[in-house]
Amino acid sequence: MPLQLSNIAQSITPSATLGLNAIVAELKKQGEDVISLGVGEPDFDTPVHIRKAAKEAIDAGKTRYTDAKGIPELRAAIAEHIYAHKALRYSPDEIIVSSGAKQAIVLALQAIVNPGDEVILPSPYWISYTEMIKIAGGTPVIITTDPETDFLPTPEQLEAAVTERTKAIIINSPNNPTGNIWPRTLLAAACELARKYDFFIVSDEIYEDLCYDGYSQLSPAQISDDAKQRTILVSGFSKAYAMTGWRMGYASGPLFAIKAMGSIQSHMTGNPNSCVVDMAHSFARRRTLLLFLLAQNALRPGVMPKGAFYMLLDVRPYLGKKCDGEVIDSDGKFAELLLKKSFVAVIPGTPFGACGFVRMSYAVSDIQITEAVRRIKNFVNGLE
Ligand code: PLP
Repeated sequence: MPLQLSNIAQSITPSATLGLNAIVAELKKQGEDVISLGVGEPDFDTPVHIRKAAKEAIDAGKTRYTDAKGIPELRAAIAEHIYAHKALRYSPDEIIVSSGAKQAIVLALQAIVNPGDEVILPSPYWISYTEMIKIAGGTPVIITTDPETDFLPTPEQLEAAVTERTKAIIINSPNNPTGNIWPRTLLAAACELARKYDFFIVSDEIYEDLCYDGYSQLSPAQISDDAKQRTILVSGFSKAYAMTGWRMGYASGPLFAIKAMGSIQSHMTGNPNSCVVDMAHSFARRRTLLLFLLAQNALRPGVMPKGAFYMLLDVRPYLGKKCDGEVIDSDGKFAELLLKKSFVAVIPGTPFGACGFVRMSYAVSDIQITEAVRRIKNFVNGLE
């Protein structure tokens, strides 16, 4: 009998971005001037005061195992931060620090999902959610949305997705990949359904500090006391503080759920790492620049993004066309050929549930944005 991987391992799809990254690396090695709009990380350095504090902490010997849920001082500081920004009161015990928001979401799902449970996931969604749900033994129930409604689900669609197996919904606002923000009315509708059918809300708020045009992010936990009691709020430092490599994130929520997440973490990674900059203005300016350049070149964004640093590009008008004899039959093919022929890396929308679109990250310089749009325009103009 040959050695076999687990059913879960066999069901997991590797990250859709990996294939493209490999091509980007290869092209760069060959000396090509590739512009990558694929990366999901700020192009800034971690702010100086954070780096300095970390160096001091290492020199002070803060390099040992800690409480599995993170050091109490950090959990207390996060509690203060959440209170100051959202007027939500959590005790430090209702907070867990983890190795990135990514791990906090995995822990949340591990703590609440049983095999066979369903987790509602409005599309487009961050590609890791479907795999995280599967790793927890659950089944993702995807709600398809469309550009006409700015890729937001309707309350009716949310309710139609509920079954007796529904255990949770994942809400990600501002959203990766659309950049859209859920309005209060939609959040309230989701919270009301969670109350009516008794399920959890996992709210991924990692882009909460990156909102533009006067829009702001609202947490489902802010909607009502009931919603707070069933929401596991996830956030972190990667995006707003340019700390992607530090692997630091956190979750806050009802004590019983956070305790369970702590127990799971204690056996997985042990504990998180022991040891703000105003980038939002730069992202806001770049978003405006990208929108302007797209409009000037008759290229269509999917949604007017209100937060995060992603924008969808509508590539449906180019499907069926040919590039040097090769048919563009999908957003994946568009991304592949755009990279190979014009050296601009974007991420196909299909793995995010945004079929017919590609995702561009504008966490790059103004010069790169300008040059990337010029190349995209030349690429689409050259299609037959
Ligand atoms: N949530 C979303 C929606 C993301 O886009 C990402 C990273 O791309 C994460 C979570 C992961 O954040 P972290 O680096 O804190 O694990």
